[in-house]
Amino acid sequence: MHSWLSHRDSVVEENKKFLVRLTKQNHKEVVSKADSIHDEVFMRIDCLQCANCCKSIPPIVNQTDSRRIANYLQLSESQFYQKYLLKDEDGDTVINQSPCPFLEPDNKCRIYEVRPKACREYPHTNNREFIKNIRLHIQNTHYCPAVFHIVEQLKTYFK
Ligand code: SF4
Ligand code: SF4
Repeated sequence: MHSWLSHRDSVVEENKKFLVRLTKQNHKEVVSKADSIHDEVFMRIDCLQCANCCKSIPPIVNQTDSRRIANYLQLSESQFYQKYLLKDEDGDTVINQSPCPFLEPDNKCRIYEVRPKACREYPHTNNREFIKNIRLHIQNTHYCPAVFHIVEQLKTYFK
C-alpha cells in the first residue's frame, strides 16, 4: 500500500478526475467493487490507531441522534445542544468542536454505543450511495487513510 500521508496531496487532482469518471461506469459494478475493497482495506486498518475523522471532521448530529445522546449523558436536549452542538454554514447541526469532545485520549469514543449515525456510517464507502457521495469521497481521501486506499484500488480496477 502507498503511504497515505506522503501521497494524499500529490493525487488530489488525479482522484478528482477519476472519481468523476467513475460516475460514468456501471453503478452496480462500482458499488459492489467498492464494497468488497472497503471490507478488505478495513481488515488492514486499525481505526483506534488513527481516529483522524474524529479529530478533524465534526459529524452531523440529527434529531434522533441528539435525543439518544442527550438521554445517555443525562442532559436535556437543549442542554446537550448548548454544550455540544452548533449549526454550520450549510445549515446542518454538527458537533461544535474539533477534535470531537467525546474522543478519549486512547482514541475510543466516550459515547460509542449511542454515537451519531454519521459516525457509524463513516466513511460511507460500503453503501449503495457510493456514487451519490462521490464529492465526499474526494474530500475524504485527504482525511481518511481507508478512503485513500479504497480509491487507489478502485483506480487500479477501473483503469
Ligand atoms: S461522537 Fe465518537 S465516533 Fe463520532 S466523532 Fe465523536 S468521538 Fe468520533
Ligand atoms: S479516518 Fe478512516 S481510518 Fe481513520 S479512524 Fe476514521 S474511518 Fe478509520
